[in-house]
Amino acid sequence: MPQEFVTLLWRDSWLKPLTDGDVGTENCALCKKEFKEIEFVTACDFCDIGIMHDSCANRHILQKHRKELEGKIGSHRDKPLHDYQ
Ligand SMILES: [Zn+2]
Ligand SMILES: [Zn+2]
Repeated sequence: MPQEFVTLLWRDSWLKPLTDGDVGTENCALCKKEFKEIEFVTACDFCDIGIMHDSCANRHILQKHRKELEGKIGSHRDKPLHDYQ
């Protein structure tokens, strides 16, 4: 199998370029498709499913972790907006 150069961009406050060697996988954990030349990827905050397309991660989290997600949203909502001001 020819080794193509793949650039995966970590969805974060800044974009961290990863090589597929760093990630340890060439396929999305959810849709199982191979990553293309440049992809936005992220991991699930709630389980160890692995690296996914950004859009797949959104779908996965909404499907599998709606409760956890709502809990997380709720915990943020309870905090005052201007904690340190
Ligand atoms: Zn995917
Ligand atoms: Zn998950």
